[in-house]
Amino acid sequence: MELALTALAIASGLAFACFLAYIGLPALAKIRLRRRFLDRVRRRAEVFLTFDDGPDEVHTPRILDILDAARVKATFFLCGAHAERHPDIVRRIIAAGHSIGEHGHAHLHPWTTGPRRTLRDLRRAAETLTRLGAPPGRRLFRPPYGKLNLMTLLFIAATRRAVVFWNVDPRDYAQAEPGPVIEAVMPKLVPGAVVLLHDGRPDDGAGAASVTAEALEMLLARVDRTRLRFAGIDN
Ligand SMILES: [Zn+2]
Repeated sequence: MELALTALAIASGLAFACFLAYIGLPALAKIRLRRRFLDRVRRRAEVFLTFDDGPDEVHTPRILDILDAARVKATFFLCGAHAERHPDIVRRIIAAGHSIGEHGHAHLHPWTTGPRRTLRDLRRAAETLTRLGAPPGRRLFRPPYGKLNLMTLLFIAATRRAVVFWNVDPRDYAQAEPGPVIEAVMPKLVPGAVVLLHDGRPDDGAGAASVTAEALEMLLARVDRTRLRFAGIDN
């Protein structure tokens, strides 16, 4: 019994070490990456609207129309699987002068995905965007769920991805009305704000982006455009 418990303690120690290496260290690294990113955008004079989880055949074209009408540039973090399904929308985003970045292929949660699958997913998303005409230069990357595992961290470092986080999250995917989105965003729209919005939904069933376009239209109508300038995140 004593021996069995000792063996279990050793096995538990190994499991703990693996956990620290695969999730704990990347979580610490993320704090530094996020701080560095936010320091960089805080020095900027613009506001950055970002849209994740698209492209979606209904919401994305509508959001593009609204952005075009308001002459606002934004950034789209595309799921590779959705981009493969809607290549024309991806090309439209690029042609309109918005920035694009990677958001994984299948929107896998980094904490529950092993290294080989993570790498395959990230590579596939990267290849899809290249094939669909992503402009050259340093590629933007927003990790699904804002989380990293060790493989994501190694991928970011090896491929020199510019990791993009956010500092305004109105949880548009969880809202049934545009009102709460606008209330959450308006007071925080200051230079250096990076707003997390969603033009699509991941296949894993997270919330839809049905109120986002409506909220965006109302928001852009309300904002004092002489005071705030919107821009896509540059690479
Ligand atoms: Zn996402």
